Amino acid sequence: MSPDQLDSNPEYWNQIFCSTHMDDGTPICRACHRLKASHVTYIELGDGREICQDCCGSAILDTKSFESLVRKCHEFYKSMNMEIDNDIPFFLVDSSEMAKLTIQIDQDNPFETTYQGNWGIIIHEQRPVVNIITSSSRIGNRMTVIKKPSEPNNGSMLSIAVLFGFTEALTGAILVHEMMHVWLRLQDIEPLELKLEEGICQVISRRWLDWYESNVVETDTETTKQSDSKRGEFLRNLLRIYKLTLELDSSFDYGEGFREAQRATSQFGLQSTIQYIITNERLPL
Ligand SMILES: [Zn+2]
Ligand SMILES: [Zn+2]
Repeated sequence: MSPDQLDSNPEYWNQIFCSTHMDDGTPICRACHRLKASHVTYIELGDGREICQDCCGSAILDTKSFESLVRKCHEFYKSMNMEIDNDIPFFLVDSSEMAKLTIQIDQDNPFETTYQGNWGIIIHEQRPVVNIITSSSRIGNRMTVIKKPSEPNNGSMLSIAVLFGFTEALTGAILVHEMMHVWLRLQDIEPLELKLEEGICQVISRRWLDWYESNVVETDTETTKQSDSKRGEFLRNLLRIYKLTLELDSSFDYGEGFREAQRATSQFGLQSTIQYIITNERLPL
């Protein structure tokens, strides 16, 4: 999954601004893509990215929140009657580590290499040591992170790395997309055409956003006080934007791929579509 999928679209947030701010260095929140207004504070993640205070409230910044999210992703897969191996290693990394992994993996990974600056990536069996983020602390408006090297690779398993600092909803969308690639690899089939594979992975991400809304956001909103309703409103708005961005993506593999796969799943159901893809290496007509 890549940043091109979250085009900065000011209409989503009703932001009105002069177009010169798009490239005059005005900070953009990397999680919701709102341009920084003069009266609000943005938090530097320490790897060149910044996020707004709202997104920071649900950002994945340490092992504890990351592990809790990974459990939710497994729960989501179970809700679709698709089991993903619980032992798959997941790594939370910063931009420089992601860039390093992308270069190392580029040669033998046909997926996720189309764009600069990946958000999530699959690491194949012969994995390098990965510097994972375990905790972070905020000092003023800047995050300081603690990293540690991953355990040596046991040589037999695919693993998934994802960028830290995004909201839980977006990080989950990236994770379930990568988990679908892993699931497909484990079905013992040849790699699929790029548009077909990215498309079905994006369908899973889109389903995650609905699942997250009803199982996490709505549940939280019901149990939290009236004073937190602003938070619920922000999260619902954020999900609406993530969904729109995914649906309107103009790229061939991710955007067109998603729309084609989505049409097939609406007509034939998710499970039948996936089974058809595994058998025929194309979408049902
Ligand atoms: Zn934000
Ligand atoms: Zn992908």
